[in-house]
Amino acid sequence: MPRSDASDVAAAIDAARAAQPAWAAVTAIERGELVRELALALQERREQAAELVVAETGKAAELALAEADAAVEMGFFVAGEGRRLYGRTTTSGMPHRTVMVVRRPVGVAALIVSFNTPLPNYAWKVFPAVLCGNATVLKPSEHTPRSASFFGALCNEILPPGVVNVVHGLGDEVGRPLVDSPHVDLVSFTGSAATGREINERAARRLAKVCLELGGKNALVVCDDADLDRAVEWSLASAFSNAGQRCAAASRIVVFDAVYDEFRERFVRGAAGYETGPVISEQSLERILRALAGAHALTGGERVDRGGWWLGPTVLEDVPVDDELSYTELFGPVAILYRVRDLDQALAYVNDSPYGLTSAVHTASLHRAMRFSEGVEAGVVVVNGGTHGSEPHMGFGGVKQSGTGWREAGVEALDVYSEWKYVNLITDPASA
Ligand code: NAD
Repeated sequence: MPRSDASDVAAAIDAARAAQPAWAAVTAIERGELVRELALALQERREQAAELVVAETGKAAELALAEADAAVEMGFFVAGEGRRLYGRTTTSGMPHRTVMVVRRPVGVAALIVSFNTPLPNYAWKVFPAVLCGNATVLKPSEHTPRSASFFGALCNEILPPGVVNVVHGLGDEVGRPLVDSPHVDLVSFTGSAATGREINERAARRLAKVCLELGGKNALVVCDDADLDRAVEWSLASAFSNAGQRCAAASRIVVFDAVYDEFRERFVRGAAGYETGPVISEQSLERILRALAGAHALTGGERVDRGGWWLGPTVLEDVPVDDELSYTELFGPVAILYRVRDLDQALAYVNDSPYGLTSAVHTASLHRAMRFSEGVEAGVVVVNGGTHGSEPHMGFGGVKQSGTGWREAGVEALDVYSEWKYVNLITDPASA
């Protein structure tokens, strides 16, 4: 793939700037209809899109196809919002006056994303951004340029030129100029907390609107009244599917003492046979192996000699809750087991984290489920399921270092991609 340079970035921003006013003048309903067409086109070419993702990431075809379908579903959900895009009207304290808030586009949106689930990552940002009347510059991960070019080409078949532009390259050569450009009104970023922090600092210098969706060190709790078969199954899927490269992966499994030994035996057995897929790069594999040095692995912990960059599914034990490993997101197939007395200790362990993205608890008790849901410091809670997986109409995001308070997907995403405007209508100026 040709690598973009600073002049390509400037040209993409110029194209977006030029296209945005006319695009904003198209009715929201029509923009929604075009998003629907896009989703249908992606659905029709789901195999082609998934093949590109498989080639870029090494993940299983089945997983890539499911991701293509998730991107399509997001398109269908967002398309319908063109018929709503609700604002709010209310009463005024003054006579002959109507007051309302309405949504306006932000302008030009830079959309910077990670490699982990490429098609949903593009869909989660591009669809709501264009629905709200913005023009965009998409900056995919340097690891997934082909799927991004494919997605961009699809957009350009259906949307007016300039509404979706794609630039390629490393974060510092292509991402930074986007963040720094005075002609970019919104930076919407999905990636690591370290990059998010840098982006926030740079964008703050020019007071640009910034939405950050960052990492997680998510915990799944197994109580002594849990259905252990299901708890093991969900823990394995959340920890190891997509090689653990999910912001919502379960990397901390917190188990009640009474069922710990049995859970550990089943979980380790399941992990050893789990087909994770490779991690994204040699650099990523080496970073994870460095972090694991000296840790007590019940299984895995070592490189596996297959095509691509494979780490054996890894289960760690005896890691103190306040150890660096307990706090650091590894973004690989690594889960740490913790033994706790009861729900109070489980909640204390779960909340002792710099992150707060997703969480899960397995229990048959409604009381425990509610106590956990209320007490956990996370943007998402799942009872009797995995920490990963979400629906297009539900706002997704985290607290603490997992984000800056925004939610993506759901109608909540519309707040990222639009500005509120407060309108005063004085209907009888003479008597007001
Ligand atoms: P990353 O932060 O290394 O890169 C993300 C994107 O930012 C890439 O496109 C990269 O090229 C770009 N980038 C890097 N440096 C930049 C800079 N200085 N300025 C502008 N752009 C820059 O993250 P990654 O390794 O691609 O992804 C893994 C991270 O993403 C994990 O922390 C994961 O939890 C997080 N993630 C979060 C969500 C969520 O919704 N919260 C979803 C998926 C992934």
